[in-house]
This record gives sequence, structure tokens and C-alpha cells, in this order.
Amino acid sequence: MDNIKDAMGSGYNAKVEAFRDEEYPMLKGTVYLDHAGTTPYPKSLMDLFVRDMTSNLYGNPHSGSSSSQLSTSRIEDIRLRVLQFFNADPEDFDVVFVANATAGIKLVVDALRAGPDGFDYAYHQASHTSLVGVREEARNSLCLDDRQVEAWVPGHDPFEGHTEDRPVLFAYPAQSNMDGSRFPLGWSETIRQRTKPEEKRTYTLLDAAAYVCSSPLDLSCADSAPDFTVLSFYKIFGFPDLGALIVRRQAEEVFNATKYFGGGTVDMVVCVKEQWHAPKSQFLHERLEHGTLPIHNIIALDAALDTHNRLFGTMEDVSTHTTFLHTKLDRGLRLMQHRNGMPVCSIYSPESGSQLGNGPVVAFNIRNSQGAWVSLAEIEKLATLKGFHIRTGGVCNPGGIASALALEPWEMRQNFSSGFRCGTDNDIMAGKPTGVIRASLGAMSTISDVDAFVDFIAEFYQDLTLTPALTPPTALPTRPPELCVHSISIYPIKSCGNFQVPAGVDWEVRPEGLAWDREWCLVHQGTGQALSQKRYPKMALIRPTLDFGRGELRVRYIGKVPSHLPREISIPLSKNPSLFRPPTTPGSRPSRVCGEEILAQTYVSTEINEFFSGALGVPCILARFPPGGQGKSMRHSKAHLQKHQLPLAAPAFKTPKLPGSFPGDRPPSPPDSDTERSSQERRILLSNESPILAITLPSLDALNAEVRRTGSHRGDISPDVFRANIVIAPTSRAATIEPYVEDTWSSLRIGDGGHRFEMLGSCRRCHMVCINQDTAEKSEEPFVTLSKTRRFDGKVFFGVHMAATNQAGVPTLRVGDVVVSC
Ligand SMILES: *Cc1c(COP(=O)(O)O)cnc(C)c1O
Repeated sequence: MDNIKDAMGSGYNAKVEAFRDEEYPMLKGTVYLDHAGTTPYPKSLMDLFVRDMTSNLYGNPHSGSSSSQLSTSRIEDIRLRVLQFFNADPEDFDVVFVANATAGIKLVVDALRAGPDGFDYAYHQASHTSLVGVREEARNSLCLDDRQVEAWVPGHDPFEGHTEDRPVLFAYPAQSNMDGSRFPLGWSETIRQRTKPEEKRTYTLLDAAAYVCSSPLDLSCADSAPDFTVLSFYKIFGFPDLGALIVRRQAEEVFNATKYFGGGTVDMVVCVKEQWHAPKSQFLHERLEHGTLPIHNIIALDAALDTHNRLFGTMEDVSTHTTFLHTKLDRGLRLMQHRNGMPVCSIYSPESGSQLGNGPVVAFNIRNSQGAWVSLAEIEKLATLKGFHIRTGGVCNPGGIASALALEPWEMRQNFSSGFRCGTDNDIMAGKPTGVIRASLGAMSTISDVDAFVDFIAEFYQDLTLTPALTPPTALPTRPPELCVHSISIYPIKSCGNFQVPAGVDWEVRPEGLAWDREWCLVHQGTGQALSQKRYPKMALIRPTLDFGRGELRVRYIGKVPSHLPREISIPLSKNPSLFRPPTTPGSRPSRVCGEEILAQTYVSTEINEFFSGALGVPCILARFPPGGQGKSMRHSKAHLQKHQLPLAAPAFKTPKLPGSFPGDRPPSPPDSDTERSSQERRILLSNESPILAITLPSLDALNAEVRRTGSHRGDISPDVFRANIVIAPTSRAATIEPYVEDTWSSLRIGDGGHRFEMLGSCRRCHMVCINQDTAEKSEEPFVTLSKTRRFDGKVFFGVHMAATNQAGVPTLRVGDVVVSC
């Protein structure tokens, strides 16, 4: 508590508030809570660096020129400054500049592996992925928890029984990058004392990358210091992109085994007739910094250290301030409850004020008032829209995540084999979250950042109503309401503008969807990834028209095009093979749509590809994915009914169960497995999930009423943003249609022919619905309001997926067709 009072009285917060806007113009309108990921760099640091670079020429060291001499002397000074920053005496320590903390770890591992017998490796379970991976190079490896580390005493070392005389490396983080837990800095000393000189040598590696961002690291006592300490400067200062390996000279011998030498690390090399070289011998760093040093990055450290000190004072000041903020954030989230008394957040980080202290990081997940987990992907989308920088997912800490979420290895493997990958939307698997939300604070964080974030979680995730707010639609409508097809849109090029089917035209419906819908896409020239409006909003301004008279897809770009490019181009509708790069030529690579590998036909015309690349400012190629393909030239629908659509009698709603309470629980699946099977066999082209997407105007009206009520958005939300194929509307004003009646439909008959369409479940939404399809501008709505009113099972829905059922004749749709639920 004393800490807290100090921090409030110190004026630190007010000082930072005063310069924040000026120093961090790139963060305008946002709240930065991802210091464990990277730290924003202040403007005055960049200015100072630019001034240095423009007034001095820094040459490659190792030569006699004045520019080279200047670099050499600056780098020597900065090397010393880095040691001083950590209170390390140059008598006892050396600094090796590396690209980042990971590269520092790899240097140590390379050396140990090169030893005659390799090495054994023990690492703490809270280790970052970059430490975990070391095990693959070791002869034996072990993952230890706190207790096992503490139990490491002579004769009881973890590799007891291995009689070989091979060195042991013990590595652990000073602070977990996942939840901010801290581990005793004394472990290095303890382990060193407990290994007798006659025993095999045990080295310690401290991963200080997370710790040093908000705390001073004191290496003044060389006897107790770790042998190797790694860190990344960009995490402390935001810039430069550089890391360090700090080596305790007593442990330098490890590097004697390294064999490779590169430019700059040798005094003499003989290679003609004889193979001989003399490694540099004065300083360790001379032997380990291969090739040209990152001179300008190292020189930028001077500016970084100066600026950090000027803006924030000492690391002790930063530590006091961030500890105070952390306590505030931790309490705000920990104490937040739903009206029924259930906590909103499940927090994995140790409670603030724990014995060892805790980094300014809170790792958590959110549950609704019924105890169900809220999807991380959903929270991330909303947080992004609301301007919060946070991190979600596995955050590069496999052991920390597994122990926080109580994920067993078999569950992680099962999740992996059912398609879960780092960074995908499937973040609740079999009722359990697979990652965390991480909010982390740093030197430039302020009280208002913490308040804004706690308020955000309360506004969107705290349920203050007595009855559950989000009851699913209650009963089926008694009388089939009078509805009709209001408009029909196809999107010939995935993620680009629509083509409206003119009134009076019968449009063919195929099993894959409406004819010509999502048959083309643009793929990135480098990655083969299909481009999406989510990343490239300007795609909305690409407007295709189908001209059957001329047999062309005409495409116009309504945004600003570079002057050397045409405004419009024509693409033949013909599938003439000469238009496309020959398939299966060696090197023809698969493309990817929504993470799925596909084989599309790519156009050879430079005129076509330059048009799209120029309009979007992205190097891309037009590709076609026509119906009737086989293997990777076809795709299958993924849509299925959602839990909120099941009739109320279904047990899922009667007794909301706590996720994870039944270990054998299967992931939610469609109510009958027949639907599941048929949906797996249902083909689609390049749409995300299903053959046809429909929305209804009564639901849109209800949404707009909500959006208006909050008053945060100018004008109504247009149906266009949902990129539906069919917009369904009441036939007359008199018809009383309930909003979201579509959730309850199981099938529809449309048109005079009475063609039947099967409903395939609600459509999950992301913040792409916030892109205005006329201007390509982004706003918060309607995603923010949808998140409040249309969230089920932690996911946000609007609109329904559907498909034509197998039937005789060719189904068609036309504007004005009557729609009847059946
Ligand atoms: C960020 C981080 C790393 C990795 O740092 P790089 O700069 O990506 O090499 C390793 N350990 C911890 C604890 C970290 O926070």
C-alpha cells in the first residue's frame, strides 16, 4: 500500500499525461495495453536519433576511416552504458549485441551443443516458446515447476542418474510473458552454490525480456548473477530493434566450443593450402558478433537510454508507477461481478501484492453470467474497434497457458487435430478457452488507460440484468409471415463490391450458391493468400458488373487510381485455358482462402493484375475458382446451426452448465448428425462458409433502433455491410414480422416454383461489418451494438446461411419472390 501512496504523490502520472499526446501521436484515440508485446516509441526518441544520423556518418567498424573510427568509439561507449544500466561491472560481464532475446538464447545453445557431449537442459514451465525450443538441441530435457526447482540440491539434481559428465543448462524467465508472474532472481545463485565444483557444471540462463521492461535488473553481484541474461531493447524503449546477451565472464568458457567464425570475429584466417584461423581473443563479444554489427541500431540505444530517462526517470520510478497501475487494474477486473454475483473475469495472474511482486500484466478470460466463456476472438475484435491494444491467444507461452487453463497434453493435441491453430477464430474448443486475454502496462501507461479498459470490460461483458439479457427467440411464429425477396446481390470477386441482380431477371441458384457468386478472388502475389476486405477495405470500391451480352466481367474501381492505370477493365467470362497460367506446372502454388489450401486458376494478363494491384496498392493476382472442381479445386460448407437457435426445450438452455465441468464433453455440434454429414458434403466456391447468405430487414430495423438509441453513429446502418446474397423484407407495411425470426427458420420456400431452401445456421460476424461499402471507411458500428445485443455463446451473429435443397429443375430467384417459412 505504501507503494501506491508514493505513486500517487509522485506526480509521475500527471507528467506522463501531459506529454502523452505529443510523444505518441500514433496512438491517438487508442489505449495501449500491450507492453508485454512491444513498447511504443516516443517521438522525441525518433527525433533525437534522426538528428544523430543526419549530423554524423557512421561507417562499418574495423577500418581506419574517420567514419569507421566514430562508429567504433560510439559502440564501445554504448556497450559500457548497457552494462551500467544493469549495474554490471565490465570486469565481470560482457555484452554481446544480438537481434533479440531469442537470438541471444540461440548463441548460448549453439555453444553448448558444440561441446563434446552436448548438454542437458532444464527449463521452468513458465518459459517463453523461445526457451522451450532449446530442448530440441539438448541430450535430455526436463520441464520443471517451482517446487522442482526449489528441490534442486546436490545429489538430487534433476538429471540424477545420468552419469555422463555433460554440462547442464537451467533456464527460466525473470517474469512470465504470459501472466506477469515473477520468479526468484536468487535461483541462479542457489543452483550455483548447490553444484559442487567437482560435479558437472551447471549454467543458468535468465530470460529477462519481460522483466526489464518495468523493473531495474541489478547485476552488481557477479557471484549471484545468472551466467547468461537475455533481453530485447525494443521491449523497454520501443526502439531500436536490438537485443543483448549479457555473459558473466566466469562462464565464457562455454563459448570455446563454438566452431563457426564469421567476418569480424577472427584476427587471421589462412585458407589456401592450409586451414587455420586465430579467433579474436580479447573480448567475448568480438568472437560472437559475426558479420557487420547493426551499427545504427546500436547507436540508437544512446538516444533510447537518454529519452527514457528524461521522460520516465529511473527504472525504480517506472517500477513504482507500474506496480501501482497493476494493482488498480487487477482489482478492477478481479472485483467485477455480474448482477447474480458471478465474477466477470477469471484471472490467471497472481493477485497483485503477491510475495515476489508481479509484473504489470493481467492475464484473464471472461465468462458471462451463466458461466460460459466468451470467445477471445470476439473480445479482440471489439477491443480493436474500441481502440484498445491488447493481446489474446496463446501468447508464446505453452507451459504457462497449459497450467493456467488446465489443458492436458491430450486436450491440446485433440484441439490441434480438430483444426485449432495459433491465431484462428476457434478459441473455445470443447467448452474450454484455448488462450488468454493479456493486458500489460508499461512506463507510459496512465491511470486513465486502466480506467478506460476496466470500463470497457464492464460496459460490454458485465451483465447487470436479473434475468439473462440474451434470451434466444422464444417461440416459432404461429402464422407464416408475409415476406418477400427485397434484393439479390452477388459478389463475383470475393470481398469486392456487389452486383445487384436487376428486377425481373430470374437468377440461377446452384448447389454452390447463386450463379457467379464468389467465383473469383484476388490472391497476394507473395503469400498466395486470398485478400479480404477486413485487411484491405478499399476492396469495397472494386465494382464488378456481369455483362452477358459481351461475355465479360467488367470491373471498375471507384476510388482513386494511379494515373497510368485505366479506371475499368474487362475480364472474359470464358474459361479459355490460355487466359490462365497452366495448371500443375512445377512451382504453381496453392492459394489460401480462410486458412484453407485451394488450387485456383490464376490469370496471366499483366493488364488485369496491374489494375487490381494498382487500385489496392497490394501486389496481387486475379484468380478464378469455377464450380465443378475436384480435390483442392473444390471447397465445402462449414455453416451449422448454433446453440442459440435450438428450440428452448433443448437441455443446453434449461441447465446452462459450466464449461469444462464434464471432461468428456464433445464440442457443440449440430443437433442431428445427418445435417452435419450433408453440410460437410455441401460444396461452396469462395464464400467464407456457406452457399447463400440472407438477412432480413426487420432484424436490421431492430439493430438500427439500438444503434440510434446509443447515438454513437451517424445515420442508419446499410444492409450492404452484411454482404448478404438475399435481403428479405415484409411484403407490406401491415405485416408484423418479429426481428430475428430467421433464427428459428428451418427451411424456406421461395418463389412461384416453390423451391425449397434449407437453413444452415446463423452467420458469425466480425468487425468487417463496420466497413462502409460506399466509402471503404471504417467505424465502430454496427459491431459494437451487435456485440451487446446479438452475442450468444460468446460469439456475435447476424443473418443466416442457407442452401438450395436437391430438387428437380433448376431453381431460380427473382426480386419480389414470396418467401414462406416451412
Ligand atoms: C518477448 C519475450 C521473449 C522473446 O523476445 P524476442 O524479442 O521475440 O526474441 C522471450 N521471453 C520473454 C519472457 C519475452 O517476454
